[in-house]
Formats: sequence, C-alpha cells, structure tokens
Amino acid sequence: MSSSSAALKFRVAICGAGIGGLVLAIAIEKFAQRNVQIDVYESRDAITTAGAGISIALRATEIMRELGMYEEIFGVSTKPPSSGLGPLFRKSDIPEGGFKWFQRIIRQQGLSMTRQDLVDILKQHLPASCTVHFNKRLTTYNKQPAGSIALHFTDDSVATTDVLIGADGIRSSVRKTLFETMDRGLINSSKIAHYADAYWTGALIYRAMFLVEKLLKMDPNNVASKGSVFFCGKGKHIVSYLVSQGTLIGVVAYVADKQKAGTPFEGRWVSVIARGAVCALRVLVKRKSSETRAFVARACAFAVLFARRISSKT
Ligand SMILES: Cc1cc2nc3c(=O)[nH]c(=O)nc-3n(C[C@H](O)[C@H](O)[C@H](O)COP(=O)(O)OP(=O)(O)OC[C@H]3O[C@@H](n4cnc5c(N)ncnc54)[C@H](O)[C@@H]3O)c2cc1C
Repeated sequence: MSSSSAALKFRVAICGAGIGGLVLAIAIEKFAQRNVQIDVYESRDAITTAGAGISIALRATEIMRELGMYEEIFGVSTKPPSSGLGPLFRKSDIPEGGFKWFQRIIRQQGLSMTRQDLVDILKQHLPASCTVHFNKRLTTYNKQPAGSIALHFTDDSVATTDVLIGADGIRSSVRKTLFETMDRGLINSSKIAHYADAYWTGALIYRAMFLVEKLLKMDPNNVASKGSVFFCGKGKHIVSYLVSQGTLIGVVAYVADKQKAGTPFEGRWVSVIARGAVCALRVLVKRKSSETRAFVARACAFAVLFARRISSKT
C-alpha cells in the first residue's frame, strides 16, 4: 500500500485498552465497511487487567460468537450448571444456621472466567490494522477547523484522528472533556460536574481468589464450592462464584456506608492490600453464620496474597 492511500484511511482513536476498548477495536475491524486505521491510546505501559473473575452474560456471549471468539472463551470458562439453577441467596448475618431464601432460575446462563484469560484472548484477536500506543494518557481533546480531532497527552505529544471513542473507564478524560466543552445551549451548566466526574457510592469492595480444594479441606460441604452464592447481610455482603473450570473461587466482599455516599473518596481508588483485606473480611464474618465463617477464613488466608480494595463509584 502506498503511503498516500494509507494517509487516506479513516482514522478511529480509542482511548483506553481495557476490556471495552479491546472489544471495540476487534468489532470495528470486523464490521467496518471500509479501510479503517485504529489507534488505541493506553495510559499504562501494557495491556493489564484489575480484578479477579468476570461473568459474561448471555447477550455478551452472542457478541463474542459474532466476533469469532466464543470457542476460545468457552474453553477457559466455568461451565454453567445444566440444572438451570442460578445464584443462591442466603441469609448469612446470623450466628448459626444461615438459610437459603431465594435461588434464581436462569434458562440460559452466561460464562465465568478469570479476567486475565479474557484479556489474553482479546489481545490475540486485535486486528493488524490496530496499533496500541502505550504510556499515552489523554488529558483533553479539541476539534480542528478541518474537522479532525487533536488529542493531547500528558507527555505533551499530540495526535490527530477523525473519530475519538472514550473507553477510558470510570474516570474518563474523554467524558470529562465532552461535557466540559459541550455547547452551553445543550446542557444545564449546573449539571456538568455531575456528568463529568465520578462520585463515591460509600461502598468498598474487597476482591480475592482462592483454590476450591483449600475450602473443601476446611469444610467439605461448603455451599460456595457448589456454585455462585450471595451471603447476604445488612450493609455487608459477600458474593462467591466459581471460575477456571470450577477450580478457583472468586470472592467479592461489599461494605457499604450510606452516610458516605456522594462524599469524596480519600486515598487510592484501587489498591493491592494485604492485612487490610484480612481485617475487612474478618469484620464481615464476625456476625455471620458458621458456613460463611469457614468460607471467609479460607478467603482471608489467600487475601493476604491477593486482594484489592476498590472504591465503588457511581
Ligand atoms: C480493581 C477492579 C476490579 C474489578 N473486578 C471486576 C470483576 O472481577 N468483574 C467485573 O465484571 N468487573 C470488575 N470490575 C469492574 C470493571 O471496571 C469493569 O468490569 C471493566 O473493567 C470495565 O471495562 P472498561 O474497558 O470500560 O474500563 P477499564 O477496565 O477501566 O479500562 C479503561 C482503560 O483505559 C485506560 N485509561 C484510563 N484513563 C485513560 C486516559 N486518560 N488515557 C488513556 N488511557 C486511559 C486504563 O488504563 C484502562 O486500561 C473491576 C474494577 C476494578 C477497578
């Protein structure tokens, strides 16, 4: 291809190489009716992922099929139970004898896997027409008189594109610039900060993963080893789900403080913690049922090795 025809390609810039940005790059290449040059700008120095496991709901699995990735994703997923039984909801904030109060029936279930497995598959499917530029943190963008868009990065570099799509997560610079530069006739000025910035819901979420066999050694019949469980409590609850063909359990522990909703969050939004996770899980388990205690005791042991505190934002 000559350099002049390459220059005439329609340029799409995607800000952020998270799951959203990667899927978008693959979809554009597959369905675009013309030659498109895709540039992904990622603030980090590599494509990485935070968190533990992820579930892909039925509708999203259909998209994965359309994109030609279903078989690979199915291969790394925990198979859904053929019974059609979905997550089990248990009352678990009583000292003894937690009990089941609800179980969802799901006719066709989605798939669960580790986020790393999913991201690895997405990376392999990135099209040749896509270039990922690392260490490029977008600060702002502005429209050029000729119709193109200038992208400004923290390293003072500038790139141009025909279309910019924000996939830069919850604290998106693209969204912030969009609302802050929007024609004041189109938006109520007092609402701009509300749309542009993320707010804290007052919830903290602790994540960890551990081997199912370790839990079974402590408690051979633990309910969490059989499928997804919501251990429910007032203001605090724990979700468990199986990933990696049922060999690993993902743990999500929520601690919510309604009084703090809408207040600024002090400290890092996402951090790897060691003893803090153990303390949090112990607090969660204090008044919970015996089955939850066994489950959390196992989670605590592994949280030391791998746990993240996430400030949940709206
Ligand atoms: C620690 C953590 C764990 C999580 N675990 C789970 C889980 O297990 N399961 C689940 O379903 N959901 C989980 N979530 C929710 C998660 O945010 C979404 O599932 C999913 O990652 C959203 O994808 P995304 O591509 O929209 O955004 P993100 O994954 O946030 O990706 C945004 C990307 O944009 C980049 N970026 C940000 N700002 C800029 C900028 N200005 N310029 C250039 N690049 C930029 C970031 O580095 C990142 O790579 C977790 C979130 C966090 C923070």
